[in-house]
Amino acid sequence: MNEPRIAIFAGDGIGLEVMDAAEAVLDTLERRFGFKLAREHHPGGAAYYRETGRELAQGGFEAARAADAILFGAMGLPDVRLPDGTEVAPHLEMRRQFHLFAGVRPVKKYENTPSPLGDPRAEAIDLVILRESTEGLFASRGKGTVENDAVARDTLEITRATSEKLFDHAFRLAERRLAKGRGKGRVTCVDKSNVFVSMAFFRKIFDERAKAFPEIAADHAYVDAAALELVRKPWTFDVMVMENMFGDILSDLGGGLVGGMGMAPCAEIGTEHALFQPAHGTAPDIAGQGKANPTAMLVSSAMMLDWLGERRGEARLVEAADALDAAIDRAYAEAAILPFELGGTSGTADIARAVMDRLA
Ligand code: ATP
Repeated sequence: MNEPRIAIFAGDGIGLEVMDAAEAVLDTLERRFGFKLAREHHPGGAAYYRETGRELAQGGFEAARAADAILFGAMGLPDVRLPDGTEVAPHLEMRRQFHLFAGVRPVKKYENTPSPLGDPRAEAIDLVILRESTEGLFASRGKGTVENDAVARDTLEITRATSEKLFDHAFRLAERRLAKGRGKGRVTCVDKSNVFVSMAFFRKIFDERAKAFPEIAADHAYVDAAALELVRKPWTFDVMVMENMFGDILSDLGGGLVGGMGMAPCAEIGTEHALFQPAHGTAPDIAGQGKANPTAMLVSSAMMLDWLGERRGEARLVEAADALDAAIDRAYAEAAILPFELGGTSGTADIARAVMDRLA
């Protein structure tokens, strides 16, 4: 079988640093599991835009479209803006053009890391926020109106086609987590169906799709109650699926529950394409100091290998993904690392090294 083609966009700031860590770990996995990724590196980002007037190097976007998977660091610098005042963020255009509707954001507590929650059961936090990423309230992006400086409107949009795919993704994810021995076999639909017609429609489609997955428990929560429960007892949740704006908010809450943005991985998945990246930005405040926490980037890389392996029917890619997840778990469990972000003294390279040692 052909080597999987990976389009790599390291980007700016700590994106470059966490990508170096991920690539070193991928090198180790290739050697140990006997596979090879055809990695293509594409310049791009805010610094590149400042030099060249282009967000990505010529052909970069098409290379992303042609690749089997996209691995992304982070892009954007606060002092570099496009002519319309927005930040350099070509991955948002990839999300739109490649219809990456499933935003998968795992929230997992690692051993020996501090938690903002006092309850010892917080050790067991292991859930996924599945954020619909192409429609919902964000469908109104660029289309909102202000009338006579008196009324402003943005319109939320839910489509049956995308919702069905989203919910199927949620149930399959719950099945897969269960098969890997870490899920609870449960999907919670988070909505506001008691108030909005669009949300009642969202819930109706969820209930329809749930019938196709009888092995997985399907339940519901209103988004306000879900926010409360995520702080009170997050260890009870497994897969939580929701509209774009709700996911935007609750996934940051999730990152906060387990220590910070360096612990927040992300996969953006469509039917033909997928992009894997940490949920954090370029962190200009710590860039260039070797202090960035690469955990989110490493877990995102594991998600990429797992997705590629399942899609291509290549067991060794799935094994490599599981081994990487296990090595990260062990590095924390053995107290070999504690990132600066969480009050420790482990830099980017220390964390990559500790994970690689546990893969050898
Ligand atoms: P964006 O809008 O692009 O998401 P942002 O400025 O809102 O960017 P980040 O760049 O993610 O957010 O940074 C937010 C804070 O989290 C900063 O203080 C940053 O140093 C910290 N941070 C983000 N990622 C990491 C990381 N991997 N390791 C350590 N600290 C991080």
